[in-house]
Amino acid sequence: MTPGGELFSIYNQNATLGATPRISSLLIKPASAVCNLDCEYCFYLDREADPYKSLPARRMTLETLERLVDTYMFYSYPASTFAFQGGEPTLAGLPFFEKLVGFQQQYGRNGQSVSNALQTNAVLIDKNWCDLFREYNWLLGVSLDGPEEINDLYRFNKDHRGTWKRVMQSVEMMKVNKVEFNILCVLSTANVGRAKDLYKFFRGLGIDNIQFIPLAEFDGEGNRLPYTPTPEQYGTFLCEVFELWWPERRKVRIRFFDNLAEALAGQKPGSCTMHETCDSYVVVEYNGDIYPCDFFVESSWKLGNITVDSWPEIARRTRRLSFASKKTLAHPDCQVCEYQSICHGGCPKFRHGPYRKFEDLDYFCQAYKMIYARSVEPLRAELKQMFGHEMPELAMHSISPY
Ligand code: SF4
Ligand code: SF4
Repeated sequence: MTPGGELFSIYNQNATLGATPRISSLLIKPASAVCNLDCEYCFYLDREADPYKSLPARRMTLETLERLVDTYMFYSYPASTFAFQGGEPTLAGLPFFEKLVGFQQQYGRNGQSVSNALQTNAVLIDKNWCDLFREYNWLLGVSLDGPEEINDLYRFNKDHRGTWKRVMQSVEMMKVNKVEFNILCVLSTANVGRAKDLYKFFRGLGIDNIQFIPLAEFDGEGNRLPYTPTPEQYGTFLCEVFELWWPERRKVRIRFFDNLAEALAGQKPGSCTMHETCDSYVVVEYNGDIYPCDFFVESSWKLGNITVDSWPEIARRTRRLSFASKKTLAHPDCQVCEYQSICHGGCPKFRHGPYRKFEDLDYFCQAYKMIYARSVEPLRAELKQMFGHEMPELAMHSISPY
């Protein structure tokens, strides 16, 4: 890099723009990437690019938490959304989350709504946690990959023992204590061919809200790691789940189909993967550092720190805009794709999966085309019945929203 180039990049990193999209929610990592499990497929543990790799016991302090709640509640008034993830966020301890609720009550203003969500492997959940979650209407996401023989193939504790039995205890406890929760099921080569078994298993537990996340991990040469499903396997899985879900579509929520229906109804889908740009949320690391996406907690994408930067400054950083607009680098296939206005080229994490190039086609493109071909028309008909009018035809959007 030339000296001029360095100067420009330093300038650029802290530069801000005029009006840019607000930060509409936070993904907070109170224990950073630290986890009490050792799942074989985990992309977060021991990442090369982890900026905090040399700090094994990192935790968010109460001072950082207070500053976070104080400043973000002011910025996000009248509706504030806090989501906690990891690593494993419950490692921060129950008193940390009790303090959080206290700060939210202290810094909230009249009429302000606050929503809290937490994604957990559930192995630390006990009655005390359940009491907090129920009392303040938290939404929990529990990671569980299916029946025991599937889950315990990759989801281990630090002693390399399966976690299924302990997680099932927590699931039962949450049901008894009336905690609202959904299931996050990671799709690997162990379960992607077993759509029916998974669906029946989760429905048998009384679960009516399920999210399936496919693994997409590759080695340095761009070869698929053994547990990463092929696009065809993922597409077939989604099509099979669609068939199982369709008869009970009014009472069961499958995140992918929910998001697709939202997009077809002209609403902003809940999942960022179907957004036009990557700017709907930011990640807050344990020390207050901010990043634009959970998949890109890397020094080169750091947007600032809440102890020195204001939320409007962070929101207006050119680096945020630069990251957000990566998604608009449409692949030639996307430019002529009939599903472009709902898919928007998928997720940049999957687009640069094998070779780390943002301009690549999403690794799972074939899967999307399979499920869109199967589900768009029935969903459009369903929406017409619900709303009493036709949904707009799929339109080819302009590539850049800016
Ligand atoms: S890179 Fe993917 S996960 Fe990250 S904000 Fe963009 S669409 Fe969402
Ligand atoms: S389905 Fe494939 S080609 Fe079409 S917009 Fe999505 S990623 Fe691009």
